[in-house]
Amino acid sequence: MFITIEGIDGSGKSTQARRLAARLRREGKKVTETHEPGDWAHGDILRALLLNGRLRHPLTEIMLFVADRCEHVAQVIQPALDQGEWVVCDRYNDSTRAYQCWGRGLEEDMLESLIKWCGIPEPDLTVWLDLPVEEARKRMSGRGESDRIESEDLKFHRAVARGFRKLAERNASRFFRVDARAGEDEIEEAVFSELKRRCVR
Ligand code: ATP
Ligand code: C5P
Repeated sequence: MFITIEGIDGSGKSTQARRLAARLRREGKKVTETHEPGDWAHGDILRALLLNGRLRHPLTEIMLFVADRCEHVAQVIQPALDQGEWVVCDRYNDSTRAYQCWGRGLEEDMLESLIKWCGIPEPDLTVWLDLPVEEARKRMSGRGESDRIESEDLKFHRAVARGFRKLAERNASRFFRVDARAGEDEIEEAVFSELKRRCVR
């Protein structure tokens, strides 16, 4: 079972990915917990380029995200799925759709062709942590990153949030929306109940 956790910066993805993986392990499952960009051998090089590379050409970023995902799938995700493991991945295709297409205005068709061309699989379930941008900003200032959203662009983050909403509408059977304003325990329970519901169907 391949599960992705998606949402804007500061929506609680790493917190819930960690909780879900721990919960599944307590249930006796073998779990690979991973994140994008960069969680594969030498992936830190691509991550550094993507986060601090000051890239100039508008398409370099999207191609590096897809290249990162090709290696991530080949080296980490697919081998784990082939062994029958559960995979919990913090960010995946929908982040690229939301950030690079909805946020930066790159063509969706081009990204979909790249994803298809590279043979990148879609997850079985996508947990979307739906949190207002203002709330995410408050949470990040709580962890000493007050400048982060301020200096990036509020308008950009709102566009990304709209992107996730649209993606959830378009892929209703794959997406599970969680109201991420809830507490960590409540969100964990909601995600786990949904997973149980889907697995016994
Ligand atoms: P990023 O995309 O920036 O990596 P993220 O989506 O992975 O962020 P986290 O790092 O999990 O988000 O959480 C952001 C901050 O919000 C952290 O300080 C975390 O402790 C806090 N937090 C996470 N979940 C909740 C919650 N349900 N309620 C309140 N605070 C939360
Ligand atoms: O989730 P994480 O904090 O590791 O993401 C690193 C950064 O990369 C974030 O600031 C996020 O906004 C950005 N990002 C992006 N496009 C993506 C995925 C992440 O700009 N497709």
